[in-house]
Amino acid sequence: MNKLAKEIATWREKKGFITTWDNMLEKLMLVVTEVSEAAQCFRNDDRKGFNEEIADIFIRLFDICGTLDIDIKKEIEKKMEKNKKRPYRHGKKMGDVVQ
Ligand SMILES: [Mg+2]
Repeated sequence: MNKLAKEIATWREKKGFITTWDNMLEKLMLVVTEVSEAAQCFRNDDRKGFNEEIADIFIRLFDICGTLDIDIKKEIEKKMEKNKKRPYRHGKKMGDVVQ
């Protein structure tokens, strides 16, 4: 996973695009853009396009991880351990408003 993140960051750099901590807000908004494109494909019942946009989301996230040296595998494992300790439905009952 980390190797893929590094490969994507290298590929992005070779294409002339810049990712740094200083332009992170823009990079995060580009992730949101890809999520929005996936939503549009979903609305259009375009499964092929949807799958491609999901890939775009991960490509943009992996670029951030590869650039900022985020060990995303370790971070996901750590967060999942935290998540596993949370109660069923995070302690909410059926019918409660879940946000
Ligand atoms: Mg896209």
